[in-house]
Amino acid sequence: MLDSQCEKLPPKYRKHHDRYEFSASTKRDLAAAAGTKCALPDCLTSTHFRDTKKNGEVGSAHLGKASHIYAASANGPRPAPKGMTPDQIKHFSNGIWTCSSCAEKIDKIDIRYTADRLLEMKKIRETAQQMAASDLEIAFYSRHISPIAFDEIFWNNKDNLDIGRIRREVKSAFHSLNASDDKSRGSSLSVPPDCVLKPVVKDIRAMMRHSDRNRALDILGAWAATIKDPFWDRRGLHIHYVTVAISARNPENGEICESSIRLRSDGWGQHYTDVDGSEFLRFAISTSAGPRCNLRWKLSVSLDKEGLRTSSELRLSGNLSPAMNLYPGELANSISEYIALLTTLAEGWSPIGYVNKITGDSLNDDQMHSEPFRIVMRLTEQELEATLYRARKIQLAQQLEIEWGYLFSYSDIYFSDELDLKTIQRASDDLRRQMGPPPYWYRGETDVLKMVGNRGVVLRVREGILRFEEYQSNRQTMRL
Ligand SMILES: [Zn+2]
Repeated sequence: MLDSQCEKLPPKYRKHHDRYEFSASTKRDLAAAAGTKCALPDCLTSTHFRDTKKNGEVGSAHLGKASHIYAASANGPRPAPKGMTPDQIKHFSNGIWTCSSCAEKIDKIDIRYTADRLLEMKKIRETAQQMAASDLEIAFYSRHISPIAFDEIFWNNKDNLDIGRIRREVKSAFHSLNASDDKSRGSSLSVPPDCVLKPVVKDIRAMMRHSDRNRALDILGAWAATIKDPFWDRRGLHIHYVTVAISARNPENGEICESSIRLRSDGWGQHYTDVDGSEFLRFAISTSAGPRCNLRWKLSVSLDKEGLRTSSELRLSGNLSPAMNLYPGELANSISEYIALLTTLAEGWSPIGYVNKITGDSLNDDQMHSEPFRIVMRLTEQELEATLYRARKIQLAQQLEIEWGYLFSYSDIYFSDELDLKTIQRASDDLRRQMGPPPYWYRGETDVLKMVGNRGVVLRVREGILRFEEYQSNRQTMRL
């Protein structure tokens, strides 16, 4: 309907058509407050860039969007609570700055991006930006740590945003890059002091260190070639996003696992020879746990007058998020590949990591350095088992989404031990049989499948969403 036609309608019918847009100055304020970065914590992409106009004049352009937290119109995602006025909807406090692809993501998957969650993201990004711009000490250190690591410190302190504590953590994130702590000295090989093999092992260690240095140097050289900044003096520390791949190697025969997962990582590099001829090298990788993978790899290789030190460890970071596989644009891991990798690790294979020689989010494996870095496993058997179990449930939920053509909504109860994979699949099959062929626009639910504590679990389908949830006897569910 054209706006002019709409104007002619009585207000009662016009209401749904109105959108309360932000003013141009509110949009500018939102972009500035977010530091012209996407406010989603796993994205943080810069939205603004230099742009040369057709007439040759240099200006700027951006690929950002000021999104409404509570919807701009009555039928948008995240409808505004009753009583929220148009002025409040158009206000700075109801806006979040994101890149254009995240803007689409938060509106299309609004059950995952609730208003509360977006308000939290807005608050953290704007606070972090405020501190990076106004606090001299934090401003200094923030330039040396990655945007994701920097914001993560604010997320870890989100409840009280204690400035003293944040300042200490930002400083220590900076210092941990120096990788000179004693814990990371040497490799994980340990040999009794009197053992006759000691000299041999020493040689192996020296060899390993030698190859760590060469591998790091190859990658560093390739990264440094991508730096276009005319002010870079070829000595300073540089930092990039880089794609890494984690796989596993059979410790007995050296066989390499066919499955691997890609992760976006921060990569730091520095290499120069001092006037006295001594070599200085720093190379570090730190992956961010993405929505599809909760492994975290930290690698650091550093060489100075005290010698070469390598530390390379794999840990778990949080729970596997059910949001995985939702966004086709993200690093193309599949849950089945993740399960295959976790399974080989659980069978005792050793993790290994490959690093891309191209900086940025490249998925081109040809550019991965062909020799992997060894990684020391810091996950317990229980952690691995628990992650595998969760991954298998997510895999099954994705399978159900395909079978039904519905969206699966994850609940805590879905991940409870009592609800095993067989029960889930059977419940879904029975309900589909009971409801007949698609399209499943109607509603339905199973009988109680299992008890979790004193709560009965049912599978319920409603408005295109599948969900395992608690049975409520007083609720009237329409059945066909
Ligand atoms: Zn984004």
